[in-house]
Amino acid sequence: MSAMLLPKDKWPEFTGRLAGKNLFAPALQGGIKKFAPVAAGDTVTLDEGNTTVPPKALLFPQTETLFRFAEGEEGMELPAIDEAAVLLGVRPCDARAMAIVDKLFRWDYEDPYYLKRRELATIIGLACSEPCLNCFCTSVGGGPASTEGLDILMVDLGESYLLEGLTDKGQALLDEFKDLLQEAGADALQRKEQLAQEAAAKIKRSVDTAGIPEALPGLWEDPLWQRVSAACLGCGICTYLCPTCHCFDIQDEVEGAAGRRCRMWDSCMYAEYTKHTSGHNPRPTRRERTRNRINHKYSYYVDKFGVIACVGCGRCSNLCPVNIDLIDILRQVKAAP
Ligand code: SF4
Ligand code: SF4
Repeated sequence: MSAMLLPKDKWPEFTGRLAGKNLFAPALQGGIKKFAPVAAGDTVTLDEGNTTVPPKALLFPQTETLFRFAEGEEGMELPAIDEAAVLLGVRPCDARAMAIVDKLFRWDYEDPYYLKRRELATIIGLACSEPCLNCFCTSVGGGPASTEGLDILMVDLGESYLLEGLTDKGQALLDEFKDLLQEAGADALQRKEQLAQEAAAKIKRSVDTAGIPEALPGLWEDPLWQRVSAACLGCGICTYLCPTCHCFDIQDEVEGAAGRRCRMWDSCMYAEYTKHTSGHNPRPTRRERTRNRINHKYSYYVDKFGVIACVGCGRCSNLCPVNIDLIDILRQVKAAP
């Protein structure tokens, strides 16, 4: 694997050529920052801060058709997922989230839709230099220049970008662009380490997660769940915009003699999520739903896959309309008897 430098005057050519490879990069759309397609001639600007909508939406779309069917026709029509894509400017926390979510989609049943998109995507990360207000990636095993889940890590060195190949897929892409790149020297790699340390030092929030997975089962009936969920509106933003949340619903849409089966994001913060046909709901209030959200990320996922299903991106705290703060909840869990 190689470490290369891309001088910034080559950036327009680099992104212009990548645009021919089904490129997605952060862009403002309707006032919301998300990953959007880049067409030839578009300017790609990677500014500070993460996207509001995580790049999970490209691998696990908010709504997708699983297959189409029609009366009188045998079999079903499956969607073609065969187009490679390049995701440019993915933050290390969101790439780690993909690696965490991979475990679920590869678990007892291999999800062909997610896994095919994952296989066809080349993920080019961008190390953080200005962590967001509620970022706490270093408390949950990540960091501003973490490489997990990435094919290439890109670091802004000022006059140039450092591009490190991390997988065969990433290295193949670097090889293809070698006419624009120069070999990186030891000074560039040292500068990268220094920038990563400086960025980590700017992270203002932290929580000691040691012992939380073990403590949670014993706190099932603790009054803390009532306290931390009292203001919750049940809007689901904390789950929809979380890069590791992956719950979905499946519904059939039929019009006349034809229809489609689709799946769409769902949220454990909704009452209907666990409502039985009988009308009984084992999670009848926001207390139980909030307790589940935290237990799922910090206990159940750890039991099943050995990793906390939270990358500390801070979106749930940043975007909750009533300022419910994940770190505050985790600190209350730590402080509970
Ligand atoms: S974003 Fe806030 S208000 Fe909305 S469901 Fe999550 S915790 Fe509740
Ligand atoms: S739970 Fe919150 S901080 Fe953790 S990954 Fe999800 S949105 Fe980010």
